[in-house]
Parts: sequence; structure tokens; C-alpha cells
Amino acid sequence: MKTYDWIVVGGGITGAALAYELVKAGLDVLLLEQQETPQNATRYSYGGLAYWSGTTPITRQLCQEAIARYNILSQELDADIQFRELDLLLTISANSDLEATAASYAHVAIPPHLLNIQEACELEPLLNREAIAGALTVKHGHIHPEKTVQGYIQAFLRAGGEMEIAQILELQTSPTEKRTEEEVKFAGVKTTIGSFHSNDIVICAGGLSRQLLKSAGIPIKLYFTHAEIVQTPPVDLRLQTLVMPANLQRFQLEAKSTQVDELWNEPGNQPAAPILDAGAVQFVDGSMVLGQISRTLTDTDAKVNSQESEKWLRQSVGEVLPPLGNLPGTWHHCLVAFSGDRLPLIGAIPGFAGVHVFSGFSNPLVIIPPLAKRFANFVTGQEDEIIIQMSPTR
Ligand SMILES: Cc1cc2nc3c(=O)[nH]c(=O)nc-3n(C[C@H](O)[C@H](O)[C@H](O)COP(=O)(O)OP(=O)(O)OC[C@H]3O[C@@H](n4cnc5c(N)ncnc54)[C@H](O)[C@@H]3O)c2cc1C
Repeated sequence: MKTYDWIVVGGGITGAALAYELVKAGLDVLLLEQQETPQNATRYSYGGLAYWSGTTPITRQLCQEAIARYNILSQELDADIQFRELDLLLTISANSDLEATAASYAHVAIPPHLLNIQEACELEPLLNREAIAGALTVKHGHIHPEKTVQGYIQAFLRAGGEMEIAQILELQTSPTEKRTEEEVKFAGVKTTIGSFHSNDIVICAGGLSRQLLKSAGIPIKLYFTHAEIVQTPPVDLRLQTLVMPANLQRFQLEAKSTQVDELWNEPGNQPAAPILDAGAVQFVDGSMVLGQISRTLTDTDAKVNSQESEKWLRQSVGEVLPPLGNLPGTWHHCLVAFSGDRLPLIGAIPGFAGVHVFSGFSNPLVIIPPLAKRFANFVTGQEDEIIIQMSPTR
């Protein structure tokens, strides 16, 4: 049986980008994805690239690298990822303090600038002027997330990578390599279509990463929200901007729900009440994603009442963007991974040899390409201070 250098678990944007960069770095890589057409976070994402949003020297540097990377990515992957620039419109609700909201963005690399109601409605004519006190705006990058994943995967396969549609049931320990009491060596995976062996495994399983690692006895501070959206078919209506609330509740939800890690070890908990951040984006083909509800239900299979959710979602989006509330569309659900401090967890997991993680990105699309490249170079011997600082041991 063949032994790969690396097995990458998960074919969302993190797994696809990392598999491509690993194979480009000269490694023999197997990418495993459980679904033929994944219903994952990448598929239902808005596709926004917040390259303006770096707040620390590291995140600012990664955002700079990201712009350079995205500028050449379509060409490098030989795939149209629909990379473009959009106006981001961060709505400030009628009862919020304009100046305080603007000040909360003052520390980012390119602070969005404040618009009054009139200016906001000129930029986005579909806005309800009664619902806002004003808005913030900044240039935002945009991609088609699924096309980007497909571009990465096709380029990965052309470069000699292998891919199977299979669910990983179990991470397998090495029967031959000597183990100490302190360290367990993992050397492969058991899947729905058989076992595969590798020197290293990297978990890019998004919202299912924690559960998969836990089933192998590996504790990790990774969490997930249940996200809900409505996806429309291509529509004639034209949204000029990517709309999101300036005061995103999702980040507060993430902070609040991770205060007691143990709550995430049992199904049936909900560490924080659900939130809705009303927003919308239109893709190049005219389809839209209206979002988004986030719930911290600790059971990955938890069921929600889709009819009630859809009603709540349509009502809230309709308050900000009235013509969008009743568009034809379908409700969807997915899991979105996040970490306790809004930075991803990247690297080896102490005490467990041969297993790594590359997940938990909060606003990930912008920094995944540069971090995937850095990680691949790091594991093939290049020093990298940024990768070290993203370690799960931090
Ligand atoms: C509505 C919405 C809007 C968003 N907007 C933005 C945005 O504008 N900008 C931004 O940066 N981010 C945004 N995000 C977040 C971003 O889309 C996600 O964080 C990102 O796509 C996650 O990618 P991933 O590869 O980690 O996870 P996923 O895309 O969820 O992929 C994980 C994959 O792993 C597979 N998998 C899991 N377990 C197994 C297993 N046991 N065996 C085999 N395969 C397995 C799954 O099937 C899945 O395909 C948004 C998210 C949502 C829901």
C-alpha cells in the first residue's frame, strides 16, 4: 500500500489551497473530501476579501501578501475565480452611534470611511434609508469561492496530486513506529472506501475538525457555528455593493461562546444565543446570498427549524434591503469553524506526531492563500515566524 507524504482532510477552500501548495512544494499528496458536491461553508460564503482589515503587523502583512497572491491566482491556476473589487457597505443601524461605530474601525490598515444616509443610499440604491443612521465604506476584494476551490483542485490534480471522495471515519495510529507515553504517532486514515497511509495528515475539515480530532483523542480549541443563509438563483435586481452590518454580532458570539471550552465537548449545549447579521452579496452571474444566522449549537448534527429561520432571515434582510426580502431562493445550512482568538490554528498538535491542523479562520478567504503557501514552505524546511505564531500551542 502506497504511503503519501501528506493526506489533506477536507475539500473546502482551506483544504484545496493547502493541497495545491503542498503538491507545488514537491510533496506526494492525497486530498480527501466526503461529499461529491460539498454543502460546506465555502459554498455558502459571501466570497469577500477583507484585505483592508489587518489590525496587527502579522495580519497586515498577510493581507498585503494576499492581494499580490489573488492578483495572479486566476492565471496561476488557469481558472477564472472571478476576482474583482467591490464596494463594501457596512450599515450602521438607525439606533447606533455613528461616530463610535466609525471609531471601532480606526485601528485597521485601511479604515472604512463614514457616509451619511444620503451618500449610503446613492452608493447602494436598494438600501432602506429608514433602517440606517449611516454607513461605512471601503474597497473590498471578491471571489467566487466555489470556482476558486475548483481552480485549486484542478491545478492540484494537474500537478500530480490525487483526490478521492471519501469520508474519514478514523485517524489511524502507526502500528510499527515506536510510541512513547507522551507521543502518539498517526500514520493514516480509515475512510468509507478503505484505508490510506501517509507520513503526515492535516485536518482542514472546517466545522467538523474539532469532532474528527476529538474522536482520535486529540483535544483542540476549535469551535463552529451553524450558519444559515438563503441562496437565490440569478435575478434581474442589481445589488451594487456587498452589504454587511458594521457592528457584526458574529464576532461577539464567537468570543462569548468560547469562554468555557468544555461546553463544546458535549452535544446539546448552546453557549450563546443565536444572532443574525443581515447582509447580502450578488455574484457575477446575478445570484445572491442573503445572510446570515449563526448558532452555537454544540451538536454538529443539531436540527433547526428551517421555516422559522428563513422567515427571520428574510424579514431582517428585508428591513435593510427591502427588495431582497421576498426574492425566490432556498434556505441552506452549513458549519463554520472559528478559534478562540480570531486567528487560525495552524501546525502540529503537541503530543500527537504526524497530525496537523489548518482551520479556525474567522475571516479567512483573504489570508488562506498566503498562509497555505507559507505552511507548505514551512513543512518543507523554510523557517516561518508567522506560521509558528499560529501554532495550536499559542
Ligand atoms: C454566509 C457566510 C458568509 C461568509 N462570508 C465570508 C466572507 O465574505 N469572507 C470570508 O473570508 N469568509 C466568509 N465566510 C467564512 C468562510 O466561508 C469559511 O470560513 C471558509 O469557507 C471555511 O473553509 P474551510 O475549508 O475551513 O471549511 P469548509 O468549506 O466547511 O470545508 C470543510 C470540508 O471538509 C469536509 N469534511 C469534513 N469532515 C470530513 C471528513 N470526516 N471526511 C472527509 N471530508 C470531511 C467537508 O465536507 C467540507 O467540504 C462566510 C461564511 C458563511 C457561512
